[in-house]
Amino acid sequence: MKEVKWTAIVPAAGSGRRLEEKLGAGILKPFLPLGGIPILIRTLGQLDAVPEIREIIVACDPSYRKKVKTLIRIYRIRKARKVVAGGKTRTDSVYNALRKVRPSCRAVLIHDGVRPFISSGTIQKAIRRFGKDSCSGWVVGRPAVPTIKQVQDGRIEKTLNRSLLWEIETPQLFGKKVLLEAYRYFFRQKQKATDDASLVEMIGKPVKVFCCEEENMKITTAEDYRKAQSWFALPEIRVGTGEDRHALEAGRPLYLGGLKIPSPKGARAHSDGDVLLHALVDALLGALGLGDIGEFFPDHDPKFRNVRSEKFLKKVLALVRGKGFEIVNVDSTITLEAPKLSPWKKKIQENVARLIDAEPLTVGVKAKTAERMGPEGEGLALSASVVVSLRRKIP
Ligand code: MG
Repeated sequence: MKEVKWTAIVPAAGSGRRLEEKLGAGILKPFLPLGGIPILIRTLGQLDAVPEIREIIVACDPSYRKKVKTLIRIYRIRKARKVVAGGKTRTDSVYNALRKVRPSCRAVLIHDGVRPFISSGTIQKAIRRFGKDSCSGWVVGRPAVPTIKQVQDGRIEKTLNRSLLWEIETPQLFGKKVLLEAYRYFFRQKQKATDDASLVEMIGKPVKVFCCEEENMKITTAEDYRKAQSWFALPEIRVGTGEDRHALEAGRPLYLGGLKIPSPKGARAHSDGDVLLHALVDALLGALGLGDIGEFFPDHDPKFRNVRSEKFLKKVLALVRGKGFEIVNVDSTITLEAPKLSPWKKKIQENVARLIDAEPLTVGVKAKTAERMGPEGEGLALSASVVVSLRRKIP
């Protein structure tokens, strides 16, 4: 079968001035950003990615035709070469575009400019459905969920049988000839319609409905826009830094990242003196503005005498999680003259990852000497610095 060439028509003439007034943003609806990209461009991008679609025609308010053209160029929507002036109503706009469809295109798909959540995959499925079943039209929709009643002057006349009701969305797909015929009939009859399928129904041609399983919201109200925005929101990211330094003393054990490292000297400390874990605890507390290790685990408190630092870390991790955050990554540097840490770095990395319940690559462990300078360089002390990043977990 010869492949049918499609034209996508995108009515974007409703500037949504009411929405703009409510938001006070001074930006017209098609240009409101979702995750930094204008709503209309998101919609056009999905259509542009469908191979069967050969051209996209946008119908918009003449006052912002130039802006639409500029955005199409900036965002490289290759197939959107025509931007026509929209009319007073949606049907006027679609008809203006319909008259500009390339002669080689045999089928037309209409999709609202402010339905940015449709995926290229769903559009393609609809196109294939159309190809398989020679019907005059196919529209995307979903079975109605609410109970719908017919009401006249505030009085219920009847409850409609919900199992027969569908909410109709776009895209709507038609053969070009049928759609043109329907539009011409419609204008002769001076009828009213809220979608393109109703026009084709008016000329008695069959239209079928295809169930859309994904989100396909039309952004109409300020509430819709806020909901749509929340889906694109980046998670809250926090960064914390921590540093720790302890004096070295002969005969003390040396702990780093929760591991005991063979060494003639270890940290002089109230607890086990694990500088890496102490710096990590401080970084975690710092990222959330909660204070420092000394406030949580005072070094004069006998309770914490010789306590292993994993305990501190465990408590602080519970706090971080309780605040709704999770660790993105940890990076650290340990400064110690001797012993050499190169044989231990990987083990330290794996152990810290285990303690924070993460993959080893989440944790960076770097070790260096201080070139015999300063307390670390003279073998009198060791120190560690840590950077941690957290993200708010999506509930
Ligand atoms: Mg310490």
